Amino acid sequence: MHTVLILGAGFGGLELAASLSESVADEARVVLVDKSDSFMFGFAKMDLLFKGATEESVRIPYRDLTRPGVEFRQETVTSIDPRNRRVITDRSEYEPDTLVVALGADYEPGATPGFLADGHEFYSVDGVGRLRARLDEFTGGRVVLGILSVPFKCPPAPYEGTLLLHDELVRRGLRDRTSIHVLSPMDSPIPVSAGTSTALVEALVERGIEYSPGRLVHALDPSAHRARTRAGDLDYDLFIGIPAHRVPAVVAASGLTEGGTDGWIAVDQCTLATPFPGVYAIGDCADAPVPLAGAFAEDAARTVAPVIAARARSEPQPEVKYSGRGACHIEFGGGLVGKVDADFLSGPAPVAPFVAPSAELAREKAEFAAARRRRWFSG
Ligand SMILES: Cc1cc2nc3c(=O)[nH]c(=O)nc-3n(C[C@H](O)[C@H](O)[C@H](O)COP(=O)(O)OP(=O)(O)OC[C@H]3O[C@@H](n4cnc5c(N)ncnc54)[C@H](O)[C@@H]3O)c2cc1C
Repeated sequence: MHTVLILGAGFGGLELAASLSESVADEARVVLVDKSDSFMFGFAKMDLLFKGATEESVRIPYRDLTRPGVEFRQETVTSIDPRNRRVITDRSEYEPDTLVVALGADYEPGATPGFLADGHEFYSVDGVGRLRARLDEFTGGRVVLGILSVPFKCPPAPYEGTLLLHDELVRRGLRDRTSIHVLSPMDSPIPVSAGTSTALVEALVERGIEYSPGRLVHALDPSAHRARTRAGDLDYDLFIGIPAHRVPAVVAASGLTEGGTDGWIAVDQCTLATPFPGVYAIGDCADAPVPLAGAFAEDAARTVAPVIAARARSEPQPEVKYSGRGACHIEFGGGLVGKVDADFLSGPAPVAPFVAPSAELAREKAEFAAARRRRWFSG
């Protein structure tokens, strides 16, 4: 039987496992490996930080995964040899017929001097816990939020976090005593979508939040609580950063990033095949011309699934073209959610229309998560 080994059970890995379970459960053995015991949507970190959700309520245990033909193994990948399709984990060794790397992106907070010592973040569960504790004791002052490097996961997320922070400070009666300043090295929040960028900038301005595009915080001075930028320093009482991202160390050591831009995995942009036969990379770790977001990882999984199914059946491979399509919901505060519906690669130029915030889209976002939970875990 054809063996497919999927490294990483995140957005991309889970969608691929579900697709293969539908198409080739009888012809392929799909092994899905992740170091964690549970999946969590990226946006659940906002629920943990701002909406009082508990970790238990947002974690979906992998033991609930009952898709036919899919075996989940909780193991940490320690070595990938793409040339020989050989993978070593802390518990086992594999030589699959098809290998898919879907290990996502890691953070490198140390890339910005001073950030580890004096910065906060809400991109990791630990970071959320520390920031929640700091916010609980916060009594007002200067909040600076800086995007510290590009690319980063979910381009709207820094703005969503800012708008939800504003709501919390209003609710606690602290907003009048707090200034909020957002700095980004990018020229606009969502360059591909003028409508989304305008809506986000208007939302910031309406709430009295200062926004400085094209301005990078390159270091913090922890003893002075000062953020350093080329255009001058900024004093803060609370610094929140979106840390630098990179591929997981095991990917960097594998040789898969050779030829990829800025250390991401080199792939054919139509098929997401790496230069190594039978090895594919999908999602945040792959060097595809789309933002890092679950929606695009999912689309990438749907692109490689029919090719892998054909390999499993020893049939000719179908022609596929990654479209880089995905919809991202955006929290605007006050219970309202907007949406950007992006298509990066199927037309002559990317398009990404914006849908204005509404309570209806908030319900749609909840259903987006519930539908994936049903599909990925029980089929
Ligand atoms: C605050 C925040 C909000 C977000 N909001 C959205 C949103 O609204 N919409 C959206 O589409 N995206 C959103 N995202 C982005 C989204 O979460 C990611 O882009 C998406 O999860 C990427 O999918 P992936 O499959 O490439 O990687 P991941 O989902 O990150 O999966 C990678 C998996 O690999 C595992 N792994 C890593 N290293 C190893 C190893 N050595 N051994 C074994 N396992 C390993 C990890 O445990 C993880 O489960 C958000 C992200 C954040 C941080």
